[in-house]
Amino acid sequence: MRTTLGICQKKARYQTEQEATAVALRADVPLRPYRCELCRKYHLTSRTKGMRVLKSSAS
Ligand SMILES: [Zn+2]
Repeated sequence: MRTTLGICQKKARYQTEQEATAVALRADVPLRPYRCELCRKYHLTSRTKGMRVLKSSAS
């Protein structure tokens, strides 16, 4: 996924995928964690189209 620097700086940043996933699961809207190429940390995106649906029992 392409991430612009502006988006990277604006978005919440998570140190681990687990942390991002935990936040995503508590959100009211479908969110998906992804690793950012710029900061090498994790952000959440609401763009789940074409992506695997996040399940609460994510392995
Ligand atoms: Zn980033």
